[in-house]
Amino acid sequence: MQLNPYGEYAVLLAASLANEWPADRAGIEARTREFGMTMTFPEGPDDHARVSEVVQEWAAVVDAPPGAERAELLNEIMASAAAFPRLTDHDGEGWHLHYRDVGMSFAAVLRSVFAVGTALHLTTRGMHRLRRCAAGEAPGDPCANVVVDVTRNGRQRYCSVRCANRDAVRRHRARQASPGRT
Ligand SMILES: [Zn+2]
Ligand SMILES: [Zn+2]
Repeated sequence: MQLNPYGEYAVLLAASLANEWPADRAGIEARTREFGMTMTFPEGPDDHARVSEVVQEWAAVVDAPPGAERAELLNEIMASAAAFPRLTDHDGEGWHLHYRDVGMSFAAVLRSVFAVGTALHLTTRGMHRLRRCAAGEAPGDPCANVVVDVTRNGRQRYCSVRCANRDAVRRHRARQASPGRT
């Protein structure tokens, strides 16, 4: 997988898995294809459960405040997941860098790709460009989706137009219920 530029696809893949968890291993692998990974992974009996743990670990980075705490968490993951950069040209992708050792398990590969990709995304685009959908901040709102902000202006707060609209309606109603102070 090409992590350049900006690690965007690695972060989008992690968010996609967090937001919509596949029912089986084949579903996870299909998702990696969708987001541009071309390599085949060694098959292990507990891949589905272990990738789930990797996604949960990554979600803690999403929930960490976008500063030193978030950086610290990512550094911890990278310290145990990533390795020296390595030039590779697998699957006709052309020469690119992998930040992991060869022969790692499915879960370990994704752990490394998510961590390094997220680090690239946050450091090139901004530490705040990863969050939970803002609609979910309202009491009782069901959305807990991860939002990866790859927009030009860096102000994406909602996972979808639907969530943005729901929140807009809610704020409008709140304003009507308590008329302005003028
Ligand atoms: Zn690759
Ligand atoms: Zn949402």
